[in-house]
Amino acid sequence: MLNTSDCQTGFTWHNWGKNLTANPSCYCTPKSKEDLPGILQQAKNEGKSIRVLGGGFSWTAMVPTDGFMIDMTKLNKILSVDTVKQQVTVEAGLAVGQLSTALSGDQYKLSFATETVIPWITVGGAVALGCHGTGYSQGTVSDLVVAMEVLLADGTWRTFSAETDGEEMMDIVRVNLGALGIIYSVTLQCVPRFNLSAVDDGTQRMKDTIGDIKNLVTSHDYVEVFWFPFNENCWIKTWDKTDKPITENDPTWGWDEMKVYLEINSFGKRLMGWADKWPWLTPYVMKFISGLMPQQSVIAVSSLVFHYQLFYMPVWDMSYCINIPNNDFSLVQKAWMQVVKRIEEWKEQGKYPQNMVLHTRYIKNSSACLSPASGEDHTCCIEILTYTGNNRPVSDYQTYFQQVEQDWIELGGKPHWGKAIYSVDKLKSMYGQNMDAFLQVRQQLDPEQVFMNDFLRQVFQLPSAR
Ligand SMILES: Cc1cc2nc3c(=O)[nH]c(=O)nc-3n(C[C@H](O)[C@H](O)[C@H](O)COP(=O)(O)OP(=O)(O)OC[C@H]3O[C@@H](n4cnc5c(N)ncnc54)[C@H](O)[C@@H]3O)c2cc1C
Repeated sequence: MLNTSDCQTGFTWHNWGKNLTANPSCYCTPKSKEDLPGILQQAKNEGKSIRVLGGGFSWTAMVPTDGFMIDMTKLNKILSVDTVKQQVTVEAGLAVGQLSTALSGDQYKLSFATETVIPWITVGGAVALGCHGTGYSQGTVSDLVVAMEVLLADGTWRTFSAETDGEEMMDIVRVNLGALGIIYSVTLQCVPRFNLSAVDDGTQRMKDTIGDIKNLVTSHDYVEVFWFPFNENCWIKTWDKTDKPITENDPTWGWDEMKVYLEINSFGKRLMGWADKWPWLTPYVMKFISGLMPQQSVIAVSSLVFHYQLFYMPVWDMSYCINIPNNDFSLVQKAWMQVVKRIEEWKEQGKYPQNMVLHTRYIKNSSACLSPASGEDHTCCIEILTYTGNNRPVSDYQTYFQQVEQDWIELGGKPHWGKAIYSVDKLKSMYGQNMDAFLQVRQQLDPEQVFMNDFLRQVFQLPSAR
């Protein structure tokens, strides 16, 4: 039965990035598993489609619908922890940061081998889009999934698991873009709790670092490289497993200085506002911000290290996965230096479309069909960000982002599903047989396109069935 108190009409939804708006005919916030079948049935009775909402942190139009929008964030319990198998089963609306903090306490003493930086996204949203952190020997968050309980379009419950369905099927359903049904619960593989020795270093020259990137990435467990345009140096994070005792318990250690300067009295907003108003100031602002990045060395539990950033200014973000075949980093070096070249070219015209960081993370490839990091070997997740506060017009930076996207596509890159994508029409062919395998299962599970919206129809090149 549909609990009407959990559903409302006339609701206007916005995503975190404020680039998307939707007016769903019905916005539901289920509070228990038993609420879900009633909501599904009601949507079908009204001939409406459904999109499931996690935390709303995606920039792509995965969630908008004029049908039913189901907000999963009240379904946020840890259901069970199997300490022998080191697996945790949770409701899909639980935030990933809350989960890893709970697991790493003395009750369970568990960690995840990899996590996203952002702690507020839901487990369902992270899994559905193949989200990732860093770690050259680690896959994505979706690769940690061993089972998933899903409410299908026909109203039946189905648990997909590696044990009963096999890895081939799991690879099809893990990264699902919310197009197979409502994920109620997810079982994730954990590892024993571990500490990381985390070093932040801003003393290295950017060009030298990228020239020797293979050495850097292959000599640490986890690496991230940041570059604020117009700076000689980059900022490098390296994390290595250690048995040494913890020196840091404060959850805000990561970006302390930056946060203090930029958040107090909205100084960051004003600073970026000046760069918007007087674009020629951008290089000075970038130098100032780069100078704020901490130099430090701490030992902390992995969940604290992974979620190092707790303050995000409004940004536009595009991320592509660039392959690293046989530890050959030449495509990554090209992808990076093309961005540097583009930034210089635009500066020559007095324009600064990218006024935030260029960032890379390095992971093991994923076996999931729709993962942008699918395949053998390794992948670099490279991303560019620009500040969008102060109502900065999209036209200010769109052409630049499209140019960089084309550069990265020419290098064989595939986009993060949740971040900016301009070449939506190319996605189906980018994934080839992997996309065909996914679409076959999607067609079997949801022939009437209950879980579709216009964006996904464009991605899958599907005619409307409703
Ligand atoms: C500031 C910021 C930092 C970020 N950092 C990272 C990062 O470190 N690494 C990274 O990989 N990405 C990162 N992202 C991107 C973000 O993690 C992804 O877009 C993620 O999918 C958002 O999760 P969400 O819970 O907000 O889901 P939403 O954005 O609400 O939804 C994402 C998709 O998941 C589907 N979905 C969600 N829950 C369910 C469910 N229960 N059943 C079925 N489908 C479901 C939705 O239908 C949609 O297709 C960042 C984004 C922001 C804004």
